[in-house]
Amino acid sequence: MVRAEDFRQAFLKMSEVFEEQKEYLSELDAAMGDGDHGLSMARGFKAVAERLAAAPASSETDIGALCTTVGTVLAGSIGGATGPIFGTLFLRWGSHAKGKAAVGTAELAQMFDAALQGVQTIGKAQPGDKTMVDALAPAAQAVRAAALEGLSPREALIRAAEAARRGAEATKSMQAAKGRARYQGEKSIGHMDAGAMSLTLIVETLSQAVAD
Ligand code: ADP
Ligand code: MG
Repeated sequence: MVRAEDFRQAFLKMSEVFEEQKEYLSELDAAMGDGDHGLSMARGFKAVAERLAAAPASSETDIGALCTTVGTVLAGSIGGATGPIFGTLFLRWGSHAKGKAAVGTAELAQMFDAALQGVQTIGKAQPGDKTMVDALAPAAQAVRAAALEGLSPREALIRAAEAARRGAEATKSMQAAKGRARYQGEKSIGHMDAGAMSLTLIVETLSQAVAD
C-alpha cells in the first residue's frame, strides 16, 4: 500500500527535484516555447512544500486531502498552460483518494486514469500532440496493467515511471499540436517536450517514496 505519509514525502521531495531540474526543463521549453516551464514547476512545488509544512497534522492521513492541496496550490501558483494542467492531475488524484489513508495498485490505476481523463478534458491534447499527455497516458496504462497482474503499488509505480520516461523520449520525434510549441510547427521536431519530462519526474519521485 502507498500511505499518506509516502505521498507527503514524495510531494516534499518534488520541490527539491524541480529546483534541481528547473534549468534543464526551461531549456527544453526554450527550444519550442517561451523557456519558463522549469521555473514555473519549481515555483509551484516550492509553494506546495511551504503549504505542506504549514498543514495541520490531520491532512497527513488523508491522501485525498493532500493531493487536493497540491493541485490547488499548483493551479494557483503556476501561470500559463501548466498550472491548470498539472493542477488538474493532482485534483483528480485528490477526488479519487478522498478520505483514504492508504491506496493499493487498483486504486492507483483509478487515480491515474482519472488524472489522464481530467487533463485531456481541460487541455484537449491527444497522445501524439507532444505534451505531458504523451507521458501520462503510458504511465496510466502501465499502472492499469500492473493492477491486472496483481503487482504491488511500488512495482506498478516503477513501471509507470519507466513508461512515462519512454513516452517523454518519444516526444522528441513528434510535432507539437498543442500549447505554445504548436506555433513552431516542424521546428518543434527533435526536442523533448518539457511537460512530458516533468510528468516523468513526478511519477519517478512518487515511485521512489514508496517502500516494498
Ligand atoms: P506555457 O506554455 O504557458 O509557457 P509551460 O511552459 O509551463 O506553459 O508548459 C508547457 C508544457 O505544458 C508543454 O511542454 C506541454 O507538456 C504542456 N501542455 C501545453 N498545452 C497542453 C495541453 N493542451 N494539454 C496538455 N499539456 C499541455
Ligand atoms: Mg512555457
